[in-house]
Amino acid sequence: MALTVVGSIAFDSVRTPFGERDRMLGGSAVHFALAARFFTSVQIVGPVGDDFGDDHLELLRERGIDTSDVERVDGGETFFWRGHYEADMNLAHTDDTQLGVFADFDPKLSDTSRAADVLFLGNIQPDLQRRVRAQADGSRLAALDSMNLWIQTTRDALVAAIAEVDCLLFNDSEIRMLTEEPNLARAARAVMEMGPRIVVAKRGEYGAVLFTPEGFFALPGFLLEDVRDPTGAGDSFAGGFLGYLDMQGTEDPSTEALRRAMAYGTVLASFNVEEFGTERVARLTEDEITERYEALRGMTHFESP
Ligand code: AMP
Repeated sequence: MALTVVGSIAFDSVRTPFGERDRMLGGSAVHFALAARFFTSVQIVGPVGDDFGDDHLELLRERGIDTSDVERVDGGETFFWRGHYEADMNLAHTDDTQLGVFADFDPKLSDTSRAADVLFLGNIQPDLQRRVRAQADGSRLAALDSMNLWIQTTRDALVAAIAEVDCLLFNDSEIRMLTEEPNLARAARAVMEMGPRIVVAKRGEYGAVLFTPEGFFALPGFLLEDVRDPTGAGDSFAGGFLGYLDMQGTEDPSTEALRRAMAYGTVLASFNVEEFGTERVARLTEDEITERYEALRGMTHFESP
């Protein structure tokens, strides 16, 4: 039972209607790892510049995340993303993306990272995702996330990367953009024809829908009165979803396990949005996760058994 994640390790500058933060710890791999660590052992793969302080690596290590495959590039700059949200926080507006050390990154996975049962190819340039996928020959379940930037600029590489994974986790609008199919059920079917047998459409505060060859399963978001910053919610969802599946140790997850994984994804994402960046998930406890999981379970049973 082990999970490897590659994706951005970043500094994020974010403005929402509830405040702003400059150069806080972020990135798809960081948000994912902080959520997945509650379920399994996590190796994080990716480069950082020498502007990335030891305190950030220490924060990850203190929470049980293996950072031995984080490569520090002398003279390099850490990936940087600047974005903002309007009153509708379901849509992120990107103001700046600086690839920094990711522009020349040549991933070399350690034996431990290669042998992990579950692999998450977090949002990053799709050719990099493919190079990591080629090395992670131990993985039984490989999943991928991406974003509009890569659909628009590197579509062919992204489609090739998608063909090599079992599971795709995208925002619903990205699934439609990728497949050029406005109907979500048809778009999910079109993704399955590209390769993955499990498709998760994330829908911001409205929740997420799981598609498999057997059918679909939809869960609402855990509605909160205080939502401050949605950055990283998709990655926290993926961390809860795949972390739980890895903990189950199943090669071909049952419908029940996939539904529970959806609920854990929903719960982890809901904590993520309560505060800025990684602030809330970094100090989350197992008891808080269990309490919210039970609340979600209770609320979504529309009929007594
Ligand atoms: P999410 O809100 O879950 O979709 O992901 C937010 C995270 O994605 C932020 O922490 C950013 O650092 C990271 N991010 C934004 N744009 C990119 C990109 N083009 N490639 C990789 N990571 C990105």
